Amino acid sequence: MRKLIFLFLLSSLILVSACSNQSAAPKAKYVFLFIGDGMGTNQVYSTQLFKAALEGKADLAELNFTTFPVQSHMTTYSANSRVTCSAASGTALATGNKTNNGVLGKDTSLTINFESVAEKAKKAGFKVGILSSVGINHATPGSFYAHQNSRGMYYEIAKELPLSSFDYFGGGGFINPTGRDKSLPDAYQLATEAGYTLANTVEAINSLKAGDEKVFAVNPGIYPGGDFYWRIDNKEESLSLAHFVKKGIELLANPQGFFMMVEGGKIDWACHSNDAAASIHETLDFDKAVAEALAFYRQYPDETLIIVTADHETGGMIVGNGHEVNMGLLQYQNISAQEFGRTLVNFKENNPGASFDEVMALVQNHFGLDDATKGLELTPDEVKLFKTVYAELFKGDKGLNPDKDYLASNETLTLPDLALRVLSKKAGISWASNDHSGTPVPVFALGQGQSHFNTRIDNTDIPKIVGKVMGLE
Ligand SMILES: [Zn+2]
Repeated sequence: MRKLIFLFLLSSLILVSACSNQSAAPKAKYVFLFIGDGMGTNQVYSTQLFKAALEGKADLAELNFTTFPVQSHMTTYSANSRVTCSAASGTALATGNKTNNGVLGKDTSLTINFESVAEKAKKAGFKVGILSSVGINHATPGSFYAHQNSRGMYYEIAKELPLSSFDYFGGGGFINPTGRDKSLPDAYQLATEAGYTLANTVEAINSLKAGDEKVFAVNPGIYPGGDFYWRIDNKEESLSLAHFVKKGIELLANPQGFFMMVEGGKIDWACHSNDAAASIHETLDFDKAVAEALAFYRQYPDETLIIVTADHETGGMIVGNGHEVNMGLLQYQNISAQEFGRTLVNFKENNPGASFDEVMALVQNHFGLDDATKGLELTPDEVKLFKTVYAELFKGDKGLNPDKDYLASNETLTLPDLALRVLSKKAGISWASNDHSGTPVPVFALGQGQSHFNTRIDNTDIPKIVGKVMGLE
C-alpha cells in the first residue's frame, strides 16, 4: 500500500513537472525590437519632461514605453572601444557578437559572417520586417541582413537587402543607390528584379495589404540620403514611423509569427548636433511607433514581446546643468538645425546686406530667442556671441553649408549651432560632445519573456533572449 501511494505520488510529481515544463516555456510568436538610435536615459527623460511641460504637469509625463513593467539598463561597448558606433552595436543587437567599430555583421578579423536573429527567424518560418527612419542600408537596419567589412559600403549593403528574402522593409530609402560615383546598377531596380514590390508613394504604401510578399515601402518624404524629414519640421509629405509599423503589422501578422525591428534613427542625428528639441520630437515620433505595437500586444498579450532600447547614447546629454530645468522652453523651436541652415542660405542670397536685427528676427521666429514674453531673453554676453557669428556669416561663407551646419564642431560655431547651444542652456540641458558616449542605455520590456530583461544586460544579450523566447535556439 505504502509502495502504491509512493508510486502514485511519484507519477503525480512527474505529471506536474511535465505540465509546468510545458507552461514554463511558452513562445513569443510576435516580437518587436525597437531601437532608438542614440536614445540614452536623458533623451527619454527630457522627452518626458517636455511632454509634462506641454501638459501642464508638475511631475513626469509617461511615454508609451516608459509605462512598460520591466525597465533596466544595458552596456553597449564594442570589441575595440568603450564607445561604440552604430555598426558594432547593431551587430551586437542583431547577432549577439561584439565586433570592432565600423564593422557590420562580421567578426573582428573580417572573416566570419555572423547570422542575425532576423535571419534565424526567417529560416524558422517567421515573417521578418526591418524598418528605419533613416536609410535602410544604414548601420542599424543593415546589421540585421548584411555582412560587410565597413558600414560605409552602402551600395554593397543595399545589394544584400534582396538576398535576405525578408518579407518587409519599410521607412527609409537607400543611401547611394547607384554607388558612390553614381555609376552602378540601381539598387532599387536590383531589389525589384529580385521580386520585391517597391511602394514609394502614399497611395502605393496604403494599398499594400496582408498577403503581399517581399515589400519595400519607402517614405515619399525623405532627404536624398534616404532619411525621413525631421519630425520637428512637420512636413506633411513625410509619413511617420508609426505609419510603417502599422502597415508592417498588417503585412506580417500570421499564425507562424513575426520578428520586426524598428529603428528611430534620427534621435542620434539630432544629438550629434546637440539639438535637444529635434531629439525630443524624434523620440515622441518613435514612441508613437511603439504605440502601434502596443495596440497589437493588447490583442495577443500572451504571444507578444515588445523590447525598446538603444544602440548607444549620443552627445552625453545631461538634464540639469546647475540651473533650473525648463524643458517647456524647447517648444519655441520649430525648425531643425539642418532646415534653419537652408533658410539662412536663402535669406543671405536674397538679403546680402541684412542687418543684425533682421537676422535675429529669424532666430526669434524659429527658436523664440530674445523673446522675453517666452522667458527667452538673451544676456549681454549671448547677444555679443550672436553678433560675432552674424559678422562671420555675412563676411564669408562660414556656417552656410546646410548639410554641414547641423553637424558642425565647436571650432566652427555657426548660427544654428549657437541658437541650439543657447536654447539648450536655458532649458537646463548640457552636452558632453558631438559624438557618442559610452554610458549604458535603458531597456524597456513588455509581454511574453519580459522577465529576461529584469536585470542589467549587455547589448549581445538581446538577440540571445529573443532567440530563446522565439524558440530559435
Ligand atoms: Zn551616431
